[in-house]
Amino acid sequence: MQTKMLINGEMLEGGGSALPILDPATGETVAHVPEATPEQIEAATVAAHEAFETYRLVTPAERAGLLNTIADVIEENIEELSELETLDVGKPWPMARDEEMPLIIDTFRFMAGAARTMNGSVAGEYAVGHTSMIRKDPIGPVASIAPWNYPLMMAAWKIAAPLAAGCTIVMKPSEITPIATLRLAELLTDVLPKGVLNILHGRGSSVGDTLINDPRIEGISVTGSPATGMAAMRAASNQIRHVHLELGGKAPVIVFDDADIDAVAEMIRYGSFFNAGQDCAQPCRLMVQNGIYDKVVAAVADQVGQIKVGAPRSDGAEMGPVVSAVQRDRVAGFVDRARSSAEIAVGGKVDEGPGFFYQPTVVANVDNDAEIACSEVFGPVVTLSRFSDSEDALRTANAGRYGLASSIWTKDLSTAMKMSAQLRYGMTWVNTHGMPAAEMPWAAMKGSGTGCDMSVYALDAYTSVRHVMVAH
Ligand code: NAD
Repeated sequence: MQTKMLINGEMLEGGGSALPILDPATGETVAHVPEATPEQIEAATVAAHEAFETYRLVTPAERAGLLNTIADVIEENIEELSELETLDVGKPWPMARDEEMPLIIDTFRFMAGAARTMNGSVAGEYAVGHTSMIRKDPIGPVASIAPWNYPLMMAAWKIAAPLAAGCTIVMKPSEITPIATLRLAELLTDVLPKGVLNILHGRGSSVGDTLINDPRIEGISVTGSPATGMAAMRAASNQIRHVHLELGGKAPVIVFDDADIDAVAEMIRYGSFFNAGQDCAQPCRLMVQNGIYDKVVAAVADQVGQIKVGAPRSDGAEMGPVVSAVQRDRVAGFVDRARSSAEIAVGGKVDEGPGFFYQPTVVANVDNDAEIACSEVFGPVVTLSRFSDSEDALRTANAGRYGLASSIWTKDLSTAMKMSAQLRYGMTWVNTHGMPAAEMPWAAMKGSGTGCDMSVYALDAYTSVRHVMVAH
């Protein structure tokens, strides 16, 4: 297994502590990957700093060519990368290959096109005898920090947009799921100019923290938990740096009396338990209007009760383990604390046997202000609570700390329009949930972050608007 890091165009073994990488389906160690030393972190940031001087001048067409080549390389190695991703996160085979890889590849292809759309909005005379131009230029070397839930997809989001914008990168995948990203690093060694992309391995508290505080880093881009987002903002404030955050979520699924109940229940089965529920946009908080509440609980419980849980290669497995023992115990803690005040309609237990399995779980009759209704569980758990009318639903949904994904389920167009205009979430779907498109922003509001990934708007985090004025 490839365990080296990419620093200044070379594959190097980390000189720090060797961190164990576990197979979540068995709990067994599949590799030990040494993390970067402070000297190696410095070498990577120096490389990104030096490479920026030439990479920022590379034409958009050439940047597009590089991004398309990355997409080709991933496509040529799709089986191997999917295998590594499955081993790292424990997802059922072939979900990584069939559901995630197409968007990963498309992210690079879309950003190849987006690189060629970066332009300012004016050239004109705003003072007599002077012509002004607006430019959008890359900000400089970026520290890109990714989480463990979709390691390669998050790496794609954290690499493609900065490269399209003309920035160089030092990237760090999660210390518990680095193996597909480190293999991608090796595959890209000869694709990109030296130092343009550097990939390190290590813990957040050591490698991540050193990286985001390095004086050569001009932008910090994090996908992760709110705690890491706060650490990034603190680091950015020390040096006045750009910061882009995609953090946690707690997506409300607002189901009105006229909704298609079967469609809601099916979406919950396939959407909420995909990736064992470890998804920042997971449709996890069902808010159901009083008139159909009991029917929705029954339909959701019926669908979720049928989910087949198993190891990645087991026959018909729809859902695998969660990523680690820590995550499984965290999920169990949320459900256990909810037991006394809510009803566990399905699941609610750690599965026996090796690996980090937790049963697909439905918790009904949850108060809207209960911990499990308001905090991100990030596991195979959904809750159901009630609302009376659209004002009540809006008030409850908008009161939470998060503002990432949301959905509205109704046949009434005016309800859909009014709700979607007033929900304070970066993304709102109507009669569906979580469907991504490379052209559309994965956008955050409130405690879920700043800015977005995907779409041309992702480039904003990595570019500065500049004014150039010529006297004549
Ligand atoms: P995490 O914050 O624990 O770790 C994310 C990354 O940050 C890891 O690489 C980690 O090593 C690093 N890190 C941790 N502390 C750091 C520090 N002080 N300085 C620098 N780096 C540090 O998150 P996680 O547990 O890996 O991922 C789960 C979280 O990610 C959830 O909250 C989930 O909602 C969120 N997430 C958000 C999105 C989105 O698009 N909004 C997508 C996926 C995951």
